[in-house]
Parts: sequence; C-alpha cells; structure tokens
Amino acid sequence: MTIETTPDYWDCECEHNYIHAKVDTLECPVCLSIEEEQPDSRVSEISTVRKRQPRCPEDNGPGGLFLAGCGSSDLSGPDFEGLYDCKDCGLFFSKADAANK
Ligand SMILES: [Zn+2]
Ligand SMILES: [Zn+2]
Repeated sequence: MTIETTPDYWDCECEHNYIHAKVDTLECPVCLSIEEEQPDSRVSEISTVRKRQPRCPEDNGPGGLFLAGCGSSDLSGPDFEGLYDCKDCGLFFSKADAANK
C-alpha cells in the first residue's frame, strides 16, 4: 500500500497539530523543525486543514487596491517569491491578497 502525500503540507515533530501548510510556515514555532528536513503530509490527514487553501482574489474592495481575479482555487505556487499564479485568469497575487476566507 502506498501512502499518498501532498507537496503542499509538511509534518513537524510535534505530537499534535503537526501538519503545516507550506504557504503558512516552513518552520514549526513549537518544535523548531523545518520543512526541508521533514516529510510531506499524508493526504488523508490534511482534509481538515485543506479549506485554508487560498483562492484567486475575486472582488475589488470599496476604494481598495485589491486585485481583481476570478475566485478560482486552481492555482499554482507559491513560487520562490511567495506569489500565486491563477491558472484560470493568469493573475499573480500574494498570500495577503488571496481570498482564503
Ligand atoms: Zn512542531
Ligand atoms: Zn483567477
């Protein structure tokens, strides 16, 4: 039996809450393990945190400078600059701009 892992998450060495999204952190503030030296998370274990995946920003806030995208969750990234690329509309945006609520 093969265990399916995901490149988007990693496990630290904590007993609880050991799954970290790579978009959020590459170092656990509790056990101080770093993503590079730890395994990717199992797909079966990340279903609870998966909802936090960012989406393409959809709305222009009133008077804001938000990016206008399409709301798609079909993204690539983050790249080395921490930017996502929407595969549907081609928009580049940072995690801070993502619609992940
Ligand atoms: Zn930890
Ligand atoms: Zn988009």
